[in-house]
Amino acid sequence: MTMRLPALILAAVLCLVVHAHEAATIVPTPVQLIEGTGTCKLDTVTVDCRDAALLPAAQYLAQSLAGRATVAATGGRATPVKLALDTTLEASQYRLDIAPGHIDITGGDYSGVACGIATLRQLLPAASGSIEVPCLRITDKPRYGWRGLLLDSSRHFWSVDEVKRLLDLMACYKLNRLHWHLVDDEGWRIEIKRYPQLTGQGAFRPFDSHDLGCEERAAREHNADLRVDRAKMKVDEHGDSVYGGYYTQRQLRDVVAYARERGIEIMPEVDFPGHSRMATTVLPWLSCQGEPSSTLCVGSDATLQFCKNVYDEVIDIFPFAYVHMGGDEVDKRNWQSCPRCRQRMRQCGIASIEGLQGWFVRQLEAYFNAKDRHLVGWDEIADDGLGTGSVVQWWRGWNKGVVERATVQGKQVICSPTTCLYFDYGQDDGTIDEILRYDPRSTAGLSAGQQQLILGMQGNTWCEWIATEARLQYQVMPRMIALAERVWTSDTCRERVVARFHEKLPAQLERLDALHVRYKLPDITGVSEHTLYNGHGVLWPAIAYGKATLRYTTDGTVPTCQSPAITGPVEVTRDTHFTIASFRPDGSRSDMVTATYAQARYMPALDVSPKTDGLLVEWHRNTGGDHCSDIARGALIARLVSPAVQLPPAIDHDYSVIFKGYLYAPADGIYEFVLGSDDGSQWLIDGTLLIDNDGPHSTVVRRNQAALRQGWHATEVHYFDYNDNGGTLHATVRCVDNPALQVTYKH
Ligand SMILES: [Zn+2]
Repeated sequence: MTMRLPALILAAVLCLVVHAHEAATIVPTPVQLIEGTGTCKLDTVTVDCRDAALLPAAQYLAQSLAGRATVAATGGRATPVKLALDTTLEASQYRLDIAPGHIDITGGDYSGVACGIATLRQLLPAASGSIEVPCLRITDKPRYGWRGLLLDSSRHFWSVDEVKRLLDLMACYKLNRLHWHLVDDEGWRIEIKRYPQLTGQGAFRPFDSHDLGCEERAAREHNADLRVDRAKMKVDEHGDSVYGGYYTQRQLRDVVAYARERGIEIMPEVDFPGHSRMATTVLPWLSCQGEPSSTLCVGSDATLQFCKNVYDEVIDIFPFAYVHMGGDEVDKRNWQSCPRCRQRMRQCGIASIEGLQGWFVRQLEAYFNAKDRHLVGWDEIADDGLGTGSVVQWWRGWNKGVVERATVQGKQVICSPTTCLYFDYGQDDGTIDEILRYDPRSTAGLSAGQQQLILGMQGNTWCEWIATEARLQYQVMPRMIALAERVWTSDTCRERVVARFHEKLPAQLERLDALHVRYKLPDITGVSEHTLYNGHGVLWPAIAYGKATLRYTTDGTVPTCQSPAITGPVEVTRDTHFTIASFRPDGSRSDMVTATYAQARYMPALDVSPKTDGLLVEWHRNTGGDHCSDIARGALIARLVSPAVQLPPAIDHDYSVIFKGYLYAPADGIYEFVLGSDDGSQWLIDGTLLIDNDGPHSTVVRRNQAALRQGWHATEVHYFDYNDNGGTLHATVRCVDNPALQVTYKH
């Protein structure tokens, strides 16, 4: 009997810990959370809503609880969950009150109620089981009204069920805008009753270069998630195998209703006048030359009328006040030689083909406004003389200042820059941190009025290289959760936001596991691509998710669930090439890295005694070449000196340089070299290519090690920026055996 009381107390404490844990892991982080005492049982609930406008929300709540709780029609012993509107609250603002016998969700508008439901969903345990939630009171509202995700259904087609599952994930994290890219060069996905040929001929295609690329990569990486989805292939009337699909208007209305039930509005995009190859393939009269082209003829009245006819039907399907017209990456060369386009320019007093694009965008703007819609376009339209009702979507990360310029002109802006919000790009833990640190309203120099014109942020998921739902989820998760946190929280302390997110992330990954949603596991850490060892080495990789497993092979094959697991340090006594992969709890593979271990072979010091401090920097004209071997072909601009491998401040154009000189190793030892650049770079030591980071690419960091005898070693670093749009070069050396030792340079 004496043991009984402490055991009870312990059980009670454990219970509290579990519930506090779930409240503490809510993403996005609520503005205010006051913990109460006790719990509220949700085994049987009634959903009580007096406001007819909230009936879809009641249905969404009931669906969210399906399979967990019983939703009863009337009271009895059931816990009432009451949904209500309170117009004194702001848009998307909500209160969630959980008391032992009842739950109240009160929103400033429908979206607020949906956000309250999303929070309640996250308070339920990740896995099925006891359905009890902690008593608490949350008062919450978002920093930004536009919390978006772009889905590209043109490059690869997504079924209605796949789109709905994505909407459901968005709703879990309070994202409220789906930007749906429905039309592009590669496929026309929206039924237009006036032009049935668009989907009749433009919705299916033989495999294109993207499809073949996906197939090749799937085979190379032994990853079925990369293959083109066989369920979307068919044999056409000519007996050819084709791939694709489209949405009927009835299906689209159904998806719109499903999204609205979850507090999400859908912004359709039919991209004009560029990205139109599929439209002009089906209807060649739309182009200047009457043949397939990526660009529409904007000199043709018939083509302009076509655009409006298409949008008549689009606007009828999608009730949202914002419609996206594209306007990006227009190849205007056809316009130059087209008699109709030249006639239009003469008639309207337009001086250049850039002006012609502006004229076209303003035509659509007037049309949209007459339909009571806001025009949204990519940032190419920023300087087209549009009115303040139109919205500029910033995407070109290198097109700096567009947010400042647009907001000075009084235009609204949505931020989805390539620098961190392109979800089709590769992701790692650093990418997630960049999203968490990006807060467009905090950009220096914006007035309070300009800040308010920034509607919000959006992740863009272009699908050229994403062909299955599993791969789509992997590309989007977990960075969509990071976006949700960043765009919701008003916490402007970047580092606190980052630290808090990583604390919460494992609990969110557990939720994704329970929902059978694919995601990218956290990075495998503690692994170098190349490691040298003296006698014996140790491989000890780690991953910041306790439920993940690391497995490895040493024969070059891809690790499987049967490969040895890494549970502690792995001793290395002979030269070995490791392939290491991380596995989710369901056994599916996430990422792979390689690590080569080689016995250190020392490079002897050179018999030289350089006298002048620093490295010599040969600065060349940019040749436009895309390899380091092209640098020396450019005329020499100047010879400069730099204390280390870093761009001298004088270089602010023609980022095309060769560093030459000697590195002094202060002791015998293994040295690690790190070279990161955008675009290509190479590092040579004593004439040997140690790091090859060549070719055009965004920032890529590579490492290698060298065993150096004490003394001087010849060093050369080559670097170029392909587009010449800003140099990024980071290079470091550290002595692995004694990090306190510093190398120095002379020439
Ligand atoms: Zn034309």
